[in-house]
Amino acid sequence: MDGLRNLFDTLIEYHWSSIEMGEFTVLNACEDPLSVLVAIVLSQNTNDVNSTRAYRSLAQRVGCPMKPESILEMSVEELAEVIRVSGMHHIKARTIVNLVKSVSVEELVKLDPLELRSRLLAIRGIGYKTADVFLLMYRKFPVFPIDTHIRRVLTRYGVVRRGDSYEAIRRTVENYLPEDPDYLTRAHLSLIKHGRAVCRARKPLCEMCPVSSWCAKIV
Ligand code: SF4
Repeated sequence: MDGLRNLFDTLIEYHWSSIEMGEFTVLNACEDPLSVLVAIVLSQNTNDVNSTRAYRSLAQRVGCPMKPESILEMSVEELAEVIRVSGMHHIKARTIVNLVKSVSVEELVKLDPLELRSRLLAIRGIGYKTADVFLLMYRKFPVFPIDTHIRRVLTRYGVVRRGDSYEAIRRTVENYLPEDPDYLTRAHLSLIKHGRAVCRARKPLCEMCPVSSWCAKIV
């Protein structure tokens, strides 16, 4: 599995220096825990242009840092309107309300990371990826979140199989990467960028891909 480490190192080198804040909603969020987690929820199943617009609209309404009481002052319907541009806004509004009712800001900061992961996963609307992005990007916990782009790149490369579970893919990857949150953050964002710009869902640009010579190209 040296190939897996080569894949990550090469893609970090290829993409990291050109990543801009505007490409990821979570990088645009205020640095308080609730703002970061809400930004990650808003990013679910949409592009970052729309989720960033929704995040800004909400931040304008409730302020920054985000406080649970400011969010709960709104009805779920009002909140959904504020974040409408992110898509699936009713579901996301309910998730955000569930979230602020289920976990306190203090717990987001202080709970043992694995306990916090379980608590977040118990909240309706919060899945593995959302919980893990928060643990990595805010808590600096060494976990590797898997999103659609990363799953596609790894499947085509030949290191995981189509249909493998989130947890199976995460564990496979984590076994071969350093337990260094800075490295894992660079790897996470660089692989997403690769999936968006080069290893696209349709018509991957294999001819300009820096890992083309090692890739199984299982498309
Ligand atoms: S060679 Fe093609 S299929 Fe393989 S990672 Fe690069 S773009 Fe994707």
